[in-house]
Amino acid sequence: MKLVLATHNRDKVREIKALLSDTVFDVLILDDFPEISEIEEDGETLRQNAYKKAKTVFDNTGLLSLADDTGLEVDALDGRPGVYSSRFSGENASYEDNVNKLLSMMEEVPDPERNAQFRCVISIVGSDIKKFAEGICPGKIIRDKRGDRGFGYDPVFYVPGYKKTLAEMDLELKNIISHRGIALKKAIQILTQVVKT
Ligand code: IMP
Repeated sequence: MKLVLATHNRDKVREIKALLSDTVFDVLILDDFPEISEIEEDGETLRQNAYKKAKTVFDNTGLLSLADDTGLEVDALDGRPGVYSSRFSGENASYEDNVNKLLSMMEEVPDPERNAQFRCVISIVGSDIKKFAEGICPGKIIRDKRGDRGFGYDPVFYVPGYKKTLAEMDLELKNIISHRGIALKKAIQILTQVVKT
């Protein structure tokens, strides 16, 4: 069965494809459908954005679609940047711009108060199907970047249980413990039911 990942983000595609590799799904990506124009992420919640992306792709392709929207929620910043994580330092901000802004805003925050979490919401849309799955990964924002794997805020997101940032983990480990990996494992259970019916 065909499944379209409703994202152009190659970093997300890499992680999601790795987890879907031993499923029955024939995975397509948004780049396979150049006729679908950019989907604006203008929702107020991760759930709204994830649904909008999956629904738009389903409406345009008629194929089962899966979208993820992810936010970094920092305690000391009252849950920001949250749904605005990709645009934290401006509309066309790079990963580096966003990380630098985060580090500078948190310069004065003492170590015990640097807790944060990634939250990932996945939406699956198909004919008569509208489902959601969520995953959370708790950690801490460290003061300097560590590691060169992963993407986005990974170099400053430290997971105490593994004594590593997400950027110091290989893809396999990140997918076991990460927000996206956890949400996707739930999504795979939902998709498995879809295939059976
Ligand atoms: P969105 O889900 O495309 O809106 O992504 C929001 C932003 O969060 C991205 O631009 C990245 O900067 C960041 N992000 C999303 N997923 C991850 C992740 O797994 N690790 C680190 N940063 C992430």
